[in-house]
Amino acid sequence: MGNPNNTALSTSKQSKPENTTHLGVAAGDILSMMDRYQFSDEMRTIIKQEGLLPAGVLSRLQVNYPQHSGLMEDKPFLFEVGSHYAGLSGFRKVCEILKNNGIELTKIKERELYIKVYRFLATSHSLNIINWDNYETDSVYQLVLPQPGMIDPVATQAYVDAKTKVEQDEIVAEYSEKTNPHDGNQQLNKPWFENDKGEVEFLDGSQHKYPQCQLVFDTSTQNCFSFCTYCFRHAQVRGDEDMFLQKDITQLHNYLKKHKEVTDILITGGDAGFMPANRFEQYITPIIEDPELTHIRTIRLGSRALTFQPEMILTQKFDKMLELYDLLYKNGIQMAWMAHFSTPRELLNPRTIAAIRRLKAHGVIVRSQSPIMNHISLFTDKNGKVDIDKSAQNWIDLANILAMLGLGFHSMYAARPTGEHHYFAAPMADIERVFSKIYNSLASINRPSRHISMTISAGKIAILGTSIINGEKCFALQFTEARNMEWMNRVFHAKYDEQKNKIDFLLPFDTEKYFFEDELKEIEANLTKALQERLA
Ligand code: SF4
Repeated sequence: MGNPNNTALSTSKQSKPENTTHLGVAAGDILSMMDRYQFSDEMRTIIKQEGLLPAGVLSRLQVNYPQHSGLMEDKPFLFEVGSHYAGLSGFRKVCEILKNNGIELTKIKERELYIKVYRFLATSHSLNIINWDNYETDSVYQLVLPQPGMIDPVATQAYVDAKTKVEQDEIVAEYSEKTNPHDGNQQLNKPWFENDKGEVEFLDGSQHKYPQCQLVFDTSTQNCFSFCTYCFRHAQVRGDEDMFLQKDITQLHNYLKKHKEVTDILITGGDAGFMPANRFEQYITPIIEDPELTHIRTIRLGSRALTFQPEMILTQKFDKMLELYDLLYKNGIQMAWMAHFSTPRELLNPRTIAAIRRLKAHGVIVRSQSPIMNHISLFTDKNGKVDIDKSAQNWIDLANILAMLGLGFHSMYAARPTGEHHYFAAPMADIERVFSKIYNSLASINRPSRHISMTISAGKIAILGTSIINGEKCFALQFTEARNMEWMNRVFHAKYDEQKNKIDFLLPFDTEKYFFEDELKEIEANLTKALQERLA
C-alpha cells in the first residue's frame, strides 16, 4: 500500500495540498482502503468533493493507535459488503461463511436459544470490522454475536435437552417472560395531557421523566442496524406488546406547548437513524416555525448507525437529512447525534470517520454515550478478576480518539438490570476503580461530561468515588438526573461493597434508608394512581 504522490482524495477543494512527508497513511493508502471497504462510486465522489478522508487525520489516528486500527489492514472481508444477516437463518448463514473460511463457532444450540429469546441482526460492516484472526476476545464479536453463557445455564440445559420443537418453544416463551424488558418503572414515565376538548390524551411512544428532556420512540425508529447482545431496549426491538410507539407527531407538539420546561427532544428507538427525512421534517418544522415551541433548543437523535452502518450517511439519499440539519443550525437549534461508541475499533475505519466528518460539516454535534460492559469494554484477567488497567485503557484510547475526531464524550454508564445483566455486569467497586483511572488519565476537555452512572427508577445515580467516614470506607453517590431534581443537590453515601453489581443493591451508609426513598415511593404511587385513573 502507499502512493504518496496521489493526494486527490485526501484534500477538499478549497484546502492547500497537504505536506504528506510525515504521514503514516498516504493518499494511495486511502485509495486502497476504499477499495477494501468497497466504497461505491457515489461514496467516492462524496468523499472527494467534501474532503471527508484527509490523510492527516487518518495518519495521526493510525500512528497513535495501530493496535486498534482497521485502517491499514488489507485482508479481504469475509462478508459481502451491503448484506444484512437477520434471525436464525441469518445467524446460520454467518456460521456457514465463517466455516468456509476456517472458523467454526461452537455451542450453536446455546447461541440459537439466545437468538430465539432476543434477536439476531448484523450488518456486513459490523461483521467485517471484527478481527477474525483473534475473534473470541474481539469486542464487536461480543457486541453482535450471541455467546454461550449469556443465557441462564439451567434454561440452556433444558433447551439443549428438549426432545421436540414444542418443548423448545415453551422454554423460550417462559424465559422471554423473565427478561425484565422495562427496568426502572418506565411505564410510569408515560406522559399525558388534556387536549383542547378537555380529554386526556396519552403519548404512547414517549417518556417524560426528567423535566428538560422528552424521549420519543417514533414509529419509524423501532429497528436497529445490528442488534447489541446487551440491549436494554429489547422490548422495543423485539416488538413486545407493551413497547412504546409514537405515531402521532402533532400530539407530541401539543404536549410540548403545555410543557415549557422541556428544552430537549431525544428521538430514540431502536435506532433513530431509521427515521426518514420527511418524517424528521414533520417533527422539526413546527419547532422552528411555531412561536409556542421556541423553548425547544436541542434535538437529539440516538443512533448506532456510525458503528453498524455508517455508509448510510455517505449517500445522496442522505442529503435531504443534511439539509434539515443545516436548517436546524441556521435556526439556533442544536442538532446532537448521540452515538454509542464503546471501543476504539468501532471508530477506526474509513466509513465511520468519513460519516462523522460529513455530519459535523452540517453543524451536527456528535457525542458518544455508552455502557461499560464486561467482555466488550471491560475485561477480566485469567482469574476472572476485572483487569483495571486494560479496561481503563480501552476507554482512555476511545476518549482521545473521539477528541481527535472532534466528538464529545458525553457519558459512560453501568449495565442496566435488564436482559442478560449477569454476563455484562461487574462489581460497582471495580467499575469505580476503572472509571477513576479513566478520569484521572484524561485531559479535562476529553473526559466524559459526568461521572459514571446507573439508571434506576429514582433517576441516574453517579458514583463520585469512595470516601472514608469515621474510619469506614463508603461510596459517594449523587444523582445526575432525578424524579425530583432537587435530589441532585445532595451527595449521599452507601456502604462500600466489593461484590454488588447494581447501584440499588448498595445499602445506605449510616441511615436505615436513602434520603429519597419515601418521597420516591410517594411519587411512584401518585404516578401509578394517575395512570390507572386515566386508563379507567
Ligand atoms: S442499538 Fe440500542 S436499541 Fe438497538 S440493539 Fe443496540 S442497544 Fe438495543
